Amino acid sequence: MAKKLPFIKERLFCPGPTPVPLRSRLLMVDQLPYHRASAFYSSFLKCQEMLTSLLGANQPPLILTCSGTGAMEAAIVNFTEPQDKILCLVGGKFGERWAELGHSYGCQVQTLSFPWGEAPSVNDLAQHLQKDRTIKAVFFQSCETSTAVQLPVQELAATINKYSDALVVVDCISSLGAHPLRMKEWGIDLAIAGSQKGLSTPPGLGFIGISERAQQRWSKRPKYYFDLSNELQCQKKGQTCFTPAIGIVLALEAALEEIFAFGLDEYFAFHHHIARGVRKALQAMGLKLLAEGCFSNSLTAAYVPQGIPGEKLVKVLQEKFAMTFAGGQGALQGKIVRCAHLGMFDYFDICAGLVALEQALQSMGHTHTLGTGISAFMQETKDYI
Ligand SMILES: *Cc1c(COP(=O)(O)O)cnc(C)c1O
Repeated sequence: MAKKLPFIKERLFCPGPTPVPLRSRLLMVDQLPYHRASAFYSSFLKCQEMLTSLLGANQPPLILTCSGTGAMEAAIVNFTEPQDKILCLVGGKFGERWAELGHSYGCQVQTLSFPWGEAPSVNDLAQHLQKDRTIKAVFFQSCETSTAVQLPVQELAATINKYSDALVVVDCISSLGAHPLRMKEWGIDLAIAGSQKGLSTPPGLGFIGISERAQQRWSKRPKYYFDLSNELQCQKKGQTCFTPAIGIVLALEAALEEIFAFGLDEYFAFHHHIARGVRKALQAMGLKLLAEGCFSNSLTAAYVPQGIPGEKLVKVLQEKFAMTFAGGQGALQGKIVRCAHLGMFDYFDICAGLVALEQALQSMGHTHTLGTGISAFMQETKDYI
């Protein structure tokens, strides 16, 4: 393998962490404020207000100090009882995580599996729910990050609400910011997100939006740090029960302000157009995409060409070009490459990523005319920029 290029910038194309804007980074260098003081409460409340619009909720979500999975676990702990029947839609690594969490807490876990790289069938879900009316909660992802599939969140939620009284629980960790979400309007009870993906903030914060209906269904399980009903009382005043990740809250406020100054609809549209361009580019390079018919604005996944090991491709991109792409997980390990384009990346960073991908593929023996990928990207996005 040729040596690394000189003076190269590190660039992230993995689905979290995503690039953090300069103002957020500078804020984190400064001395931290005390978290029991009005200046911090006001930052906290501002974050909650902006997250409320992002979630399409009618009341503020909780901001928890933990990664996204911590907020997923908090959902299970606070809204299920041992032995509760729950249904998890599983078509990738993160769907599996819901089922694993349910098992860990003694729920009777049912799974509705769908092929990795495809979306679940709304009809299959309707049938499942009609057969068993005692399911307490249904868990699924908005974007299944391991396969780059965007699930039909609105249709799934409508189906659950039509055929059952189950809570609708959606892991939006990798889609918040890249796809619109309307928690209230679509009938979602719990929406979970995290700081380090579409919101371009360092990892360390998990978010959970809780509907009024869910607030009538707190579990009786033992809990302490993740006692969300306690936390809800505190957070109404901009306070937290325990010490929050103060610096990350300030970074979040700055990143959200930048996103809202740009405009939420514009932010979604940017991701939509970039995602289209990236798909065209990968196809032009001769790669076959996953998630046909259910593409995500957050990331794009493609099978690596025959004879090229996926892990090696990711390694070449890292070592030669300082570009962090993601490979496959679980059943797709070594078989795919994932190119994330969520968060506050820059248009030209994506161009750089595509150029590096073309070069890396070429150096590993994939024959395509250099430039076809980036050219397809430029063509596809020319009317947008
Ligand atoms: C990243 C991710 C998670 C896990 O989040 P952590 O912050 O790593 O705990 C869960 N679900 C989805 C869909 C994700 O993309």
